[in-house]
Amino acid sequence: MSITAAREKFGVFLVRKGLRATSQRLAIFDAAFTMEEHFTADQLLDHARKLDDSVSRATIYRTLPIMTASALLREVDIGSGEKFYRPNRDGATTQVAQVVCVDCDKIFEISAPFMEWYSSTVSSKLGLTPASQRLQVSANCDVFRQSGACPRRG
Ligand SMILES: [Zn+2]
Repeated sequence: MSITAAREKFGVFLVRKGLRATSQRLAIFDAAFTMEEHFTADQLLDHARKLDDSVSRATIYRTLPIMTASALLREVDIGSGEKFYRPNRDGATTQVAQVVCVDCDKIFEISAPFMEWYSSTVSSKLGLTPASQRLQVSANCDVFRQSGACPRRG
């Protein structure tokens, strides 16, 4: 999905929710959608201010839930207390799992189409229908453990 298409979708979503497509909201959206890595609210604030210096921290915190509700942004909770976000560039339907490297503070996302199949299989045996599922792997870095350094460490 191109940023133009994504921004258009976001605009439609705002209108449907009775919200205005303010220049700050659009700057935050553009900033979020062009981030390469998983990012925190503070990293998004820095990036969005380069596009529009009137963006405030409060606007960031109000806009993040709107963007995740639109499914154009995914919230990633790795249990560290701080929430991470990532643009959903390939559409809302892809199942992803996260592999978190605890040595290098990196979050990798892998496509996990089996996850839906697995959760529906185990749930149906219990007479249940899954509402959502997630898979998260915490991992140590082999390179870092062996050499004490890793090019992925930021
Ligand atoms: Zn590493």
